[in-house]
Amino acid sequence: MQHSILILGGTTEARLLAEALAGQNRFTTALSLAGRTRAPIAMPVPVRTGGFGGAQGLAAYLTDHDIKMLIDATHPYAAQISHNAAEASRISGIPLVALRREGWVEREGDRWRQVESVEAAVSALGENPRRAFLALGRQELLPFEKASQHDYTIRSVDPVEPPLDVPSAHYITARGPFREADELTLLSQHGIDAIVSKNSGGTASYGKIAAARTLGVEVIMIRQPELPQVTSFESVEAVLAHLDQIFPAERGE
Ligand code: NAP
Repeated sequence: MQHSILILGGTTEARLLAEALAGQNRFTTALSLAGRTRAPIAMPVPVRTGGFGGAQGLAAYLTDHDIKMLIDATHPYAAQISHNAAEASRISGIPLVALRREGWVEREGDRWRQVESVEAAVSALGENPRRAFLALGRQELLPFEKASQHDYTIRSVDPVEPPLDVPSAHYITARGPFREADELTLLSQHGIDAIVSKNSGGTASYGKIAAARTLGVEVIMIRQPELPQVTSFESVEAVLAHLDQIFPAERGE
Protein backbone atom coordinates (compact mmCIF):
# COMPACT_ATOMS: atom_id res chain seq x y z
CA MET A 1 0.00 0.00 0.00
CA GLN A 2 1.33 3.47 -0.89
CA HIS A 3 0.92 6.50 1.37
CA SER A 4 1.00 10.00 -0.11
CA ILE A 5 3.26 12.45 1.68
CA LEU A 6 3.48 16.17 0.97
CA ILE A 7 6.60 18.01 2.10
CA LEU A 8 6.45 21.78 2.35
CA GLY A 9 10.02 22.61 1.35
CA GLY A 10 12.50 25.36 0.59
CA THR A 11 15.29 24.09 2.84
CA THR A 12 18.21 21.67 2.56
CA GLU A 13 16.53 19.42 5.14
CA ALA A 14 13.37 19.21 3.01
CA ARG A 15 15.45 18.07 0.05
CA LEU A 16 17.31 15.48 2.14
CA LEU A 17 14.02 14.15 3.51
CA ALA A 18 12.60 13.94 -0.03
CA GLU A 19 15.74 12.06 -1.09
CA ALA A 20 15.29 9.52 1.71
CA LEU A 21 11.57 9.04 0.98
CA ALA A 22 12.06 8.81 -2.79
CA GLY A 23 13.80 5.48 -2.25
CA GLN A 24 10.92 4.00 -0.24
CA ASN A 25 8.24 2.26 -2.31
CA ARG A 26 5.54 2.55 0.30
CA PHE A 27 5.48 6.34 0.00
CA THR A 28 4.48 8.57 -2.88
CA THR A 29 6.20 11.81 -2.05
CA ALA A 30 5.76 15.28 -3.51
CA LEU A 31 7.42 18.53 -2.47
CA SER A 32 5.97 22.02 -2.51
CA LEU A 33 8.01 25.19 -3.06
CA ALA A 34 6.93 28.80 -2.67
CA GLY A 35 8.70 29.68 -5.92
CA ARG A 36 11.00 32.28 -4.37
CA THR A 37 14.17 31.22 -6.22
CA ARG A 38 14.38 31.37 -10.00
CA ALA A 39 16.38 28.19 -10.51
CA PRO A 40 15.76 25.90 -7.55
CA ILE A 41 18.03 22.89 -7.03
CA ALA A 42 16.69 19.74 -8.72
CA MET A 43 14.58 17.61 -6.39
CA PRO A 44 14.41 13.81 -6.24
CA VAL A 45 10.56 13.81 -6.12
CA PRO A 46 7.84 15.64 -8.11
CA VAL A 47 7.63 19.33 -7.25
CA ARG A 48 4.65 21.68 -7.25
CA THR A 49 5.31 25.40 -7.03
CA GLY A 50 3.41 28.44 -5.70
CA GLY A 51 0.95 29.25 -2.92
CA PHE A 52 -2.15 27.19 -2.14
CA GLY A 53 -4.38 30.17 -1.35
CA GLY A 54 -4.08 30.19 2.45
CA ALA A 55 -4.91 27.49 4.98
CA GLN A 56 -8.25 26.68 3.34
CA GLY A 57 -6.55 26.18 -0.03
CA LEU A 58 -3.90 23.95 1.51
CA ALA A 59 -6.56 21.91 3.35
CA ALA A 60 -8.44 21.40 0.06
CA TYR A 61 -5.21 20.36 -1.69
CA LEU A 62 -4.44 17.79 1.02
CA THR A 63 -7.92 16.29 0.78
CA ASP A 64 -8.08 16.35 -3.03
CA HIS A 65 -4.69 14.61 -3.32
CA ASP A 66 -5.47 12.06 -0.60
CA ILE A 67 -2.38 13.11 1.38
CA LYS A 68 -1.81 10.91 4.44
CA MET A 69 0.80 13.08 6.12
CA LEU A 70 1.89 16.70 5.73
CA ILE A 71 5.47 17.53 6.65
CA ASP A 72 6.35 21.16 7.26
CA ALA A 73 10.06 21.39 6.47
CA THR A 74 10.01 25.09 5.58
CA HIS A 75 12.52 27.73 6.64
CA PRO A 76 12.11 28.90 10.25
CA TYR A 77 11.37 32.45 9.00
CA ALA A 78 8.62 31.26 6.65
CA ALA A 79 6.13 31.53 9.53
CA GLN A 80 3.01 32.14 7.46
CA ILE A 81 3.14 28.83 5.65
CA SER A 82 3.83 27.03 8.97
CA HIS A 83 0.73 28.63 10.51
CA ASN A 84 -1.25 27.72 7.39
CA ALA A 85 -0.02 24.13 7.63
CA ALA A 86 -1.19 23.84 11.25
CA GLU A 87 -4.58 25.30 10.37
CA ALA A 88 -4.94 23.14 7.23
CA SER A 89 -4.18 20.03 9.28
CA ARG A 90 -6.88 21.03 11.77
CA ILE A 91 -9.44 21.68 9.01
CA SER A 92 -8.71 18.51 7.03
CA GLY A 93 -7.85 16.15 9.90
CA ILE A 94 -4.70 15.14 8.01
CA PRO A 95 -1.75 14.77 10.39
CA LEU A 96 1.12 17.25 10.34
CA VAL A 97 4.65 17.02 11.63
CA ALA A 98 7.35 19.67 11.40
CA LEU A 99 11.06 19.34 10.72
CA ARG A 100 12.59 22.33 12.46
CA ARG A 101 16.17 23.31 13.00
CA GLU A 102 17.26 24.79 16.28
CA GLY A 103 18.43 28.37 16.00
CA TRP A 104 22.07 29.26 16.73
CA VAL A 105 23.00 30.20 20.28
CA GLU A 106 25.32 33.07 21.14
CA ARG A 107 28.77 31.85 22.23
CA GLU A 108 31.72 33.37 24.02
CA GLY A 109 33.38 35.92 21.76
CA ASP A 110 30.21 36.62 19.76
CA ARG A 111 29.03 40.23 19.55
CA TRP A 112 25.33 39.75 18.85
CA ARG A 113 22.59 42.29 19.07
CA GLN A 114 19.24 40.51 18.86
CA VAL A 115 16.32 42.36 17.25
CA GLU A 116 12.74 41.44 16.41
CA SER A 117 12.45 42.49 12.76
CA VAL A 118 14.26 43.71 9.66
CA GLU A 119 13.11 47.26 10.47
CA ALA A 120 14.64 46.97 13.95
CA ALA A 121 17.86 45.71 12.35
CA VAL A 122 17.98 48.84 10.15
CA SER A 123 17.66 51.05 13.28
CA ALA A 124 20.27 48.98 15.12
CA LEU A 125 22.85 49.88 12.47
CA GLY A 126 22.67 53.42 13.91
CA GLU A 127 23.18 56.89 12.45
CA ASN A 128 26.90 56.71 11.72
CA PRO A 129 27.93 55.21 8.37
CA ARG A 130 28.92 51.56 8.61
CA ARG A 131 30.02 48.81 6.25
CA ALA A 132 27.28 46.26 6.60
CA PHE A 133 26.97 42.76 5.17
CA LEU A 134 23.35 41.81 4.54
CA ALA A 135 22.71 38.08 4.21
CA LEU A 136 18.98 38.37 3.65
CA GLY A 137 16.40 37.42 1.06
CA ARG A 138 15.57 39.87 -1.74
CA GLN A 139 12.15 40.62 -0.22
CA GLU A 140 13.72 41.77 3.06
CA LEU A 141 16.11 44.40 1.69
CA LEU A 142 13.82 47.34 0.96
CA PRO A 143 13.81 48.75 4.55
CA PHE A 144 17.58 49.36 4.21
CA GLU A 145 16.89 52.10 1.65
CA LYS A 146 15.86 54.26 4.63
CA ALA A 147 19.43 54.04 5.97
CA SER A 148 21.33 55.14 2.88
CA GLN A 149 24.33 56.42 4.89
CA HIS A 150 25.73 52.87 5.12
CA ASP A 151 27.81 50.96 2.61
CA TYR A 152 26.15 47.62 1.90
CA THR A 153 27.50 44.31 0.72
CA ILE A 154 24.50 42.16 -0.17
CA ARG A 155 24.53 38.45 -0.87
CA SER A 156 21.48 36.69 -2.26
CA VAL A 157 20.66 33.59 -4.29
CA ASP A 158 19.03 35.60 -7.11
CA PRO A 159 20.12 39.07 -8.26
CA VAL A 160 18.52 41.99 -6.40
CA GLU A 161 16.41 43.60 -9.08
CA PRO A 162 15.90 46.49 -9.08
CA PRO A 163 19.00 47.28 -7.00
CA LEU A 164 18.51 49.16 -3.75
CA ASP A 165 18.11 52.91 -3.98
CA VAL A 166 21.23 53.65 -1.92
CA PRO A 167 24.50 55.32 -3.01
CA SER A 168 26.80 52.48 -2.08
CA ALA A 169 25.94 48.79 -2.47
CA HIS A 170 27.88 45.78 -3.76
CA TYR A 171 26.01 42.67 -4.82
CA ILE A 172 27.07 39.05 -4.67
CA THR A 173 24.90 36.22 -5.95
CA ALA A 174 25.76 32.87 -4.42
CA ARG A 175 24.11 29.82 -2.97
CA GLY A 176 25.39 28.20 0.24
CA PRO A 177 26.86 26.34 1.95
CA PHE A 178 29.48 28.97 2.79
CA ARG A 179 32.74 27.95 4.46
CA GLU A 180 34.06 29.89 7.42
CA ALA A 181 37.43 30.49 5.72
CA ASP A 182 35.71 32.04 2.67
CA GLU A 183 33.49 34.17 4.91
CA LEU A 184 36.58 35.45 6.75
CA THR A 185 38.06 36.53 3.42
CA LEU A 186 34.82 38.17 2.30
CA LEU A 187 34.32 40.12 5.55
CA SER A 188 37.94 41.26 5.56
CA GLN A 189 38.04 42.22 1.87
CA HIS A 190 34.92 44.37 2.20
CA GLY A 191 35.99 45.84 5.57
CA ILE A 192 32.66 44.75 7.08
CA ASP A 193 31.89 46.07 10.59
CA ALA A 194 28.33 44.75 10.97
CA ILE A 195 26.44 41.72 9.70
CA VAL A 196 22.65 41.57 9.53
CA SER A 197 21.49 37.97 9.66
CA LYS A 198 18.52 35.77 10.37
CA ASN A 199 19.06 33.12 13.02
CA SER A 200 18.58 30.32 10.49
CA GLY A 201 20.30 27.53 12.43
CA GLY A 202 22.09 24.64 10.71
CA THR A 203 25.59 24.63 9.33
CA ALA A 204 25.21 25.93 5.74
CA SER A 205 25.18 29.61 6.67
CA TYR A 206 26.95 29.50 10.05
CA GLY A 207 30.34 30.32 8.50
CA LYS A 208 29.71 34.07 8.58
CA ILE A 209 28.74 33.93 12.27
CA ALA A 210 31.92 32.05 13.16
CA ALA A 211 33.97 34.43 11.00
CA ALA A 212 32.37 37.44 12.71
CA ARG A 213 33.43 35.99 16.08
CA THR A 214 37.02 35.66 14.91
CA LEU A 215 37.11 39.21 13.56
CA GLY A 216 35.10 40.77 16.43
CA VAL A 217 32.44 41.98 13.99
CA GLU A 218 29.00 42.83 15.39
CA VAL A 219 26.10 40.62 14.27
CA ILE A 220 22.63 42.12 14.25
CA MET A 221 20.61 38.94 14.61
CA ILE A 222 16.93 38.98 13.67
CA ARG A 223 15.13 36.64 16.08
CA GLN A 224 13.13 33.68 14.79
CA PRO A 225 9.40 34.31 14.51
CA GLU A 226 6.85 32.43 16.65
CA LEU A 227 5.84 29.15 15.05
CA PRO A 228 2.76 27.06 15.80
CA GLN A 229 3.04 24.25 18.37
CA VAL A 230 2.99 21.02 16.39
CA THR A 231 4.74 17.65 16.68
CA SER A 232 8.29 18.57 15.69
CA PHE A 233 11.56 16.81 14.98
CA GLU A 234 15.03 18.23 14.61
CA SER A 235 16.50 15.79 12.12
CA VAL A 236 15.57 13.99 8.92
CA GLU A 237 16.31 10.68 10.68
CA ALA A 238 13.81 11.47 13.44
CA VAL A 239 11.07 12.25 10.90
CA LEU A 240 11.81 8.98 9.07
CA ALA A 241 11.58 7.05 12.35
CA HIS A 242 8.22 8.70 13.07
CA LEU A 243 6.93 7.76 9.59
CA ASP A 244 8.05 4.16 10.18
CA GLN A 245 6.01 4.14 13.36
CA ILE A 246 2.87 5.61 11.78
CA PHE A 247 3.12 3.64 8.52
CA PRO A 248 4.89 0.39 9.43
CA ALA A 249 6.42 -1.44 6.46
CA GLU A 250 4.38 -4.45 5.41
CA ARG A 251 6.08 -7.77 4.72
CA GLY A 252 8.11 -7.64 1.50
CA GLU A 253 8.21 -3.80 1.35
P1 NAP B 1 5.84 32.77 4.26
O1 NAP B 1 5.78 34.20 4.64
O2 NAP B 1 5.73 31.76 5.34
O3 NAP B 1 4.77 32.41 3.16
C1 NAP B 1 4.03 33.35 2.41
C2 NAP B 1 3.16 32.58 1.45
O4 NAP B 1 3.95 31.93 0.46
C3 NAP B 1 2.36 31.45 2.11
O5 NAP B 1 1.19 31.94 2.74
C4 NAP B 1 2.09 30.55 0.92
O6 NAP B 1 1.08 31.10 0.09
C5 NAP B 1 3.39 30.66 0.13
N1 NAP B 1 4.35 29.63 0.51
C6 NAP B 1 5.39 29.70 1.39
N2 NAP B 1 6.08 28.56 1.42
C7 NAP B 1 5.46 27.72 0.56
C8 NAP B 1 5.69 26.37 0.13
N3 NAP B 1 6.74 25.65 0.60
N4 NAP B 1 4.86 25.84 -0.79
C9 NAP B 1 3.80 26.56 -1.29
N5 NAP B 1 3.53 27.83 -0.93
C10 NAP B 1 4.35 28.40 -0.03
O7 NAP B 1 7.22 32.46 3.49
P2 NAP B 1 8.11 33.31 2.46
O8 NAP B 1 7.34 34.53 2.03
O9 NAP B 1 8.60 32.40 1.40
O10 NAP B 1 9.35 33.71 3.27
C11 NAP B 1 9.36 34.33 4.54
C12 NAP B 1 10.76 34.28 5.11
O11 NAP B 1 11.32 32.96 4.99
C13 NAP B 1 11.76 35.18 4.45
O12 NAP B 1 12.59 35.62 5.48
C14 NAP B 1 12.54 34.26 3.52
O13 NAP B 1 13.83 34.74 3.24
C15 NAP B 1 12.59 33.01 4.36
N6 NAP B 1 12.87 31.85 3.53
C16 NAP B 1 11.89 31.27 2.78
C17 NAP B 1 12.20 30.16 1.99
C18 NAP B 1 11.13 29.49 1.16
O14 NAP B 1 11.47 28.52 0.45
N7 NAP B 1 9.89 29.94 1.15
C19 NAP B 1 13.49 29.65 1.98
C20 NAP B 1 14.47 30.26 2.75
C21 NAP B 1 14.15 31.37 3.51
P3 NAP B 1 -0.47 30.67 0.19
O15 NAP B 1 -0.98 31.28 1.46
O16 NAP B 1 -1.09 31.19 -1.04
O17 NAP B 1 -0.50 29.16 0.28
